[in-house]
Amino acid sequence: MDSKNLLEVKNLKKYFQTPRGLLHAVDNVTFNIEKGKTIGIVGESGCGKSTLGKTLMRLHQPTAGEVMFKDADIANIPLKEFKKKYRANIQMIFQDPYASLDPRMSILQLIEEPIKVNNKSLSKAQVTEKAREMMELVGLAKRLEGAYPHELDGGRRQRIGIARALSLNPEFIVCDEPVSALDVSIQAQVLNLLQDLQEQRGLTYMFITHDMSVVKHISDDIAVMYLGQMIEKCSADRIFRDTIHPYSQALLSAIPIPNVHVKHERMVLKGELTSPIDPKPCCRFAARCPYATDKCLAEEPKLREILPNHQVACHFAEKFVK
Ligand code: SF4
Repeated sequence: MDSKNLLEVKNLKKYFQTPRGLLHAVDNVTFNIEKGKTIGIVGESGCGKSTLGKTLMRLHQPTAGEVMFKDADIANIPLKEFKKKYRANIQMIFQDPYASLDPRMSILQLIEEPIKVNNKSLSKAQVTEKAREMMELVGLAKRLEGAYPHELDGGRRQRIGIARALSLNPEFIVCDEPVSALDVSIQAQVLNLLQDLQEQRGLTYMFITHDMSVVKHISDDIAVMYLGQMIEKCSADRIFRDTIHPYSQALLSAIPIPNVHVKHERMVLKGELTSPIDPKPCCRFAARCPYATDKCLAEEPKLREILPNHQVACHFAEKFVK
């Protein structure tokens, strides 16, 4: 394993059996995440980005593939061993923490809970002290200790989710649409908090979102997913400047530009979405791609390096380089 990487994912697959066949939710995904960096995972809903996050966390059991983390293949060790040795180190922040917060518990109790469960040797006073430290770290005022989740706004509730995740001193956090349910002004506060915490604690993030304008501000690298596959991966700067894959171009063209003097053309995708159930070996974007040829319908394009540190899964990627 390369020492600069915290996580190396190889040919990861997560399939679900359905009455209509095998749903390829995550299909042969390969990528690395460098220590202390953020990879943004973007794509439409249903593209497999959240399933990818949950599979890394072993909330879904992988169908095949490897996930190397600290020299262990955490995709293939027994689940019990994963929970014992790695769960504290790999945490998740959800879109709506409200759903995962017990409404009968106060803010302080909610933050104490994971500390208590994972540090059985700590005394009650030490657990409370650590929970208070976490509240301060994420900017929750001491006066809110006795408040209940329903009394707080979405931004503060998300801070509870962040405090709970951080209380276990993780190195890697999967942030699954953590600001999608928040007002724009509060989104910025939570994003800034995540960035500050990353700097202070050297955290590594996988940031999952459907919102390209959000991911731009937080990511070092961005990977675009389409129907369970990774179809483009490069630095965040490059993807906004020199997108190559036709689907990524369409996704980026949907970001509104707040300037009436700039002419902005949105690429509207036509055609049916290909089914991710028992998919044929072809380009899964072919039915909607304006550049599709017979080759695209007969052969699946592999993710390959088109430019240094810029990978694209398209047979004709070279043609789309600007
Ligand atoms: Fe379009 Fe073909 Fe490239 Fe797929 S492989 S994105 S269908 S040109």
